Amino acid sequence: MKKTHLVAGIFLWALFSYLTKSLDVLFLAAAVLASIAPDLDLRIKHRALLHNIFVLAVVAAGSWFLQGLYFAIIVSSAYFSHILLDSLTKAGVAVLFPLSSKRYGLRLVRNGGLADKSLCVLLTLSSVVLLLQYSKEILSQFLGL
Ligand SMILES: [Zn+2]
Repeated sequence: MKKTHLVAGIFLWALFSYLTKSLDVLFLAAAVLASIAPDLDLRIKHRALLHNIFVLAVVAAGSWFLQGLYFAIIVSSAYFSHILLDSLTKAGVAVLFPLSSKRYGLRLVRNGGLADKSLCVLLTLSSVVLLLQYSKEILSQFLGL
């Protein structure tokens, strides 16, 4: 699922870039980091400590404070995508930690399984299509078409 998390961050950046008509490398780096950051709790209370809505709220507020609303949107949506994707697995996530350690998982995706790989491919292809479409629009504007 690690690659899928990474690609989800790239996809969200591509979608955001397409919708806002701006390509920002800082936003790409932030989206990629935010999409994998929750797994920093790998050795301590994995899928609880950093996989909950309270940390997500802190990440959203902190990123808004640092770089403004658009930055907060891309960072928090990438962070949320990680929690969402992990919640599709059997292990689930303790989304209400520290209030509750109960894990919620839909058991739809197995790490490294077909659904995981399919999601990864789908997100990659969607990112490419979005970026190509955006590039085409930029080129059309540049050439006055
Ligand atoms: Zn995770």
